[in-house]
Amino acid sequence: MVDIVDPLHVEHHKAGRGGWLRAAVLGANDGLVSISSTMVGVAAAGAASATVATAGVAAIAAGAFAMAVGEYVSVSSQADIEAADEALEREHLTRHPEAELEELTQLLIQRGLSRETAMQAAMELTEHDALDAHLREELGRHEHNDARPVQAAIASAASFLTGGFIPFLALLAPEDIRVKMMFIVTFLGLGAAGTFSGVASGMNPAKPTARVIIGGLLAMAATYGVGAIFHTTVG
Ligand SMILES: [Zn+2]
Repeated sequence: MVDIVDPLHVEHHKAGRGGWLRAAVLGANDGLVSISSTMVGVAAAGAASATVATAGVAAIAAGAFAMAVGEYVSVSSQADIEAADEALEREHLTRHPEAELEELTQLLIQRGLSRETAMQAAMELTEHDALDAHLREELGRHEHNDARPVQAAIASAASFLTGGFIPFLALLAPEDIRVKMMFIVTFLGLGAAGTFSGVASGMNPAKPTARVIIGGLLAMAATYGVGAIFHTTVG
């Protein structure tokens, strides 16, 4: 019994943590790659370090706001859908209480209870908090996974800022090696984020981390190329 229950329990916890952790790591990677790409592109065009820093600041501010707004809009629509579901369920409960009680009983039978036990449980759940019971059993809703737009917006902007701050460290290096340093800090930052999320989620981080590092460095190299071409044709 213990052998069957324990792994499921652990897995459940990791799945719950996976959502926000994944979002935070993705946001940080986004910030890191887009800001270092911006700065590398501007540096490749021959700009002074102060100009590279200015471009980085503008890009990090724009990116953080865009992330916050995008996340707010998408989580808000999710919240609207949840609210509509809730209103519909509430209406059903007032209009057809017997049918809803039977529906809840059926859902509990599907979960493995006998008809008798399911009826008993359905009645007790309905007495306690009918709406909550229906949202859980029918829609898989729990308080901890309700959509929270403001929280999501702040979290994604904060993770973008955290990642986007890292490439600025490269500007502390002398001008002739700043591009090299940007590649190095980005490589290290992506590696650290990947390893952290792998360890925290209990998965082997090697493959996803390698993917994100290769993707990130390719994005930087491409932007560097664009900046260098712009430099030779315009500068
Ligand atoms: Zn229902």
